[in-house]
Amino acid sequence: SLSFAQSGFDFFYFVQQWPGSYCDLKQACCYPTTGKPASDFSIHGLWPNYNDGSYPSNCAGSSYESALISDLKEELQAYWDTLACPSGDGEKFWSHEWEKHGTCSGLDERSYFESTLALRKSIDLLAALQSAGIEPDDGSYEVEDVQEALKQAIGHRPGLECNTNISGKRQLYQVYVCVDTDASTLIDCPIFPSTSCPSSVTFPSF
Ligand code: 5GP
Ligand code: 5GP
Repeated sequence: SLSFAQSGFDFFYFVQQWPGSYCDLKQACCYPTTGKPASDFSIHGLWPNYNDGSYPSNCAGSSYESALISDLKEELQAYWDTLACPSGDGEKFWSHEWEKHGTCSGLDERSYFESTLALRKSIDLLAALQSAGIEPDDGSYEVEDVQEALKQAIGHRPGLECNTNISGKRQLYQVYVCVDTDASTLIDCPIFPSTSCPSSVTFPSF
């Protein structure tokens, strides 16, 4: 298609992570140098993808330059914080995401980060879940109810990814929302990520 020819990919996955599920694992997380993040979903990345499920990565082009987005740093630290160890200020995570995924997005570095922040601000996953009575309270929830609450808010069914906590319980870890190649229009997912969740999941407190 024309959009394939122009952008080199078919759509984006906009991926948000639940911090409680990143941290509640055998390999613990490390809070960023700015302190414990909010109890809210945060950005993992904006990932170009093909309709067959494969994806481009590390496309030729510019390497990460922190100076290009230095005025966005506070917002990035609020919405795109890093939980990997050792503790960091976020630059390492952002540079990894830019180089692996952003360089394939057809956007320049600044537009890539601005577009991703705008998506995060327009999609409030936690509010959507809470309005359906789904709270990060270590309780158990039907994954159908999670899907439905998020679909109501987003207008499209999201992809879900679960991981396993130290006690062996499956928990909600990441939410994938599909976005058109313009990096702003939400769309039905052409294909869902190959991740999966069982019918009942926990939503850990953070
Ligand atoms: P994992 O193997 O932990 O699921 O994913 C590792 C990394 O591979 C992710 O952080 C992401 O960079 C990339 N990745 C995994 N699945 C997908 C996918 O479906 N689409 C894209 N674009 N990247 C993915
Ligand atoms: P991916 O390749 O899966 O897109 O990105 C994961 C990489 O980013 C890993 O190298 C991981 O250590 C690093 N990273 C840094 N901070 C975070 C974080 O808060 N969440 C995730 N999922 N990865 C992070």
